[in-house]
Amino acid sequence: MAVPKRRQSKSRSAIRRAQVMKQPVPHFVPCPRCGEARLPHRVCPACGYYKDRMVVEVPQDEKT
Ligand SMILES: [Zn+2]
Repeated sequence: MAVPKRRQSKSRSAIRRAQVMKQPVPHFVPCPRCGEARLPHRVCPACGYYKDRMVVEVPQDEKT
């Protein structure tokens, strides 16, 4: 089994982990049914629809 020859410095580890911080913000697409911003390939959180089909029940009278 391959084994690292040298211990990785704290700096090297920090540089690698710092890459996580610059992940892009997930982009949103408007829901075709209600126009609410949602993530692509996800059920719409506002209307509960995915591909013209109700997937999850959404409580309607939350906002007053
Ligand atoms: Zn929707």
